Amino acid sequence: MQTFRCQCGHKLFFGSSFCVSCHETVGMCPTCRQVTALKSLGDDTWQCTNQTCGQQVKLCRNRVDHKACNCTVAIEENDQVLCTYCRLNQVIPDLSIDGNLVKWRRLEAAKRRALYGVESNGLPIGDPSRNDFLPLKFEFKEDDPHPVSTGHASGLITINLKEADSVKREQTRVEFGEPQRTLVGHFRHELGHYYWDMLVEPAKLEAFRQLFGNEQDPTYADAQTAYYANGPKPNWQSQYISAYASMHPWEDFAESFASYLDMTSIVSTAQSFPRINANVPPDDFDAWLKVYREIGVMANEFNRDIGLLDLVPEVFNKPVIEKLRFMHDLKDIRVQSPEGSSSA
Ligand SMILES: [Zn+2]
Ligand SMILES: [Zn+2]
Ligand SMILES: [Zn+2]
Ligand SMILES: [Zn+2]
Repeated sequence: MQTFRCQCGHKLFFGSSFCVSCHETVGMCPTCRQVTALKSLGDDTWQCTNQTCGQQVKLCRNRVDHKACNCTVAIEENDQVLCTYCRLNQVIPDLSIDGNLVKWRRLEAAKRRALYGVESNGLPIGDPSRNDFLPLKFEFKEDDPHPVSTGHASGLITINLKEADSVKREQTRVEFGEPQRTLVGHFRHELGHYYWDMLVEPAKLEAFRQLFGNEQDPTYADAQTAYYANGPKPNWQSQYISAYASMHPWEDFAESFASYLDMTSIVSTAQSFPRINANVPPDDFDAWLKVYREIGVMANEFNRDIGLLDLVPEVFNKPVIEKLRFMHDLKDIRVQSPEGSSSA
């Protein structure tokens, strides 16, 4: 993620709520998409101090009530108390249960980062309060005692709250032999399923099938049963970005989509640090991938120096590269909303 600048000159980060230097309240502005210092205008109204912006905003209610967000709401949206990301929540954790507030804050931080990433990639997000695109919704649930599966169905992304418990998440990672397991990664993967429904199925199904296979044969249920009975396909590394991707074309797509978002996020971060030469044209996929692989080799060695997991564990062979290129080209699809307007 890029860093931002406070009016006092100090660095601000994507998750900042206050400037540690001048102690001003800061937040994400919905208009300029920058984390900036906010100037109080009284009556719970604030102004973005980005000189080219000046948007008047209110703080998101989830920030005021729960410190679970650092976003703001444009003053023109006077019927909204939640920011554009928080209003996608259908179910939040039961905050009367000890520990749930902390887990929810972690989920929201990861969700914001993943959503900011898809928007930065030019992909639309369906707002359930407007009738545009496929409405995107989130629910964060606990086993009750029926197990809650993390997954996606028709625009609704469900995340099991236990994923926000780092001990349990690491146990699951080891059990499944995964090289990484993170909350941001969960959101990126499930968003992959969402964008398959929104962007691939109507417009690019044939091209999808050529790269990822036929999603109807075998059925998802059969593929899932086979995967959990027999494990990943043998020699999956030659065609898939992860073992899980070998289960079914939909999972292959979601895993590849998540990796594509990892790539654009990491290369964009590098672009905001001048010591790394990462300035590549926005549309040149091969140049982005080249920079990503160079950063990956370097960062993996840094991580190994202190015993951390690899930052970029994936191997980018030809089939995997073509799947990532497919993601890069998705943003070129013009999506028709029900009102007839369109978005790249
Ligand atoms: Zn400051
Ligand atoms: Zn602004
Ligand atoms: Zn919010
Ligand atoms: Zn999936």
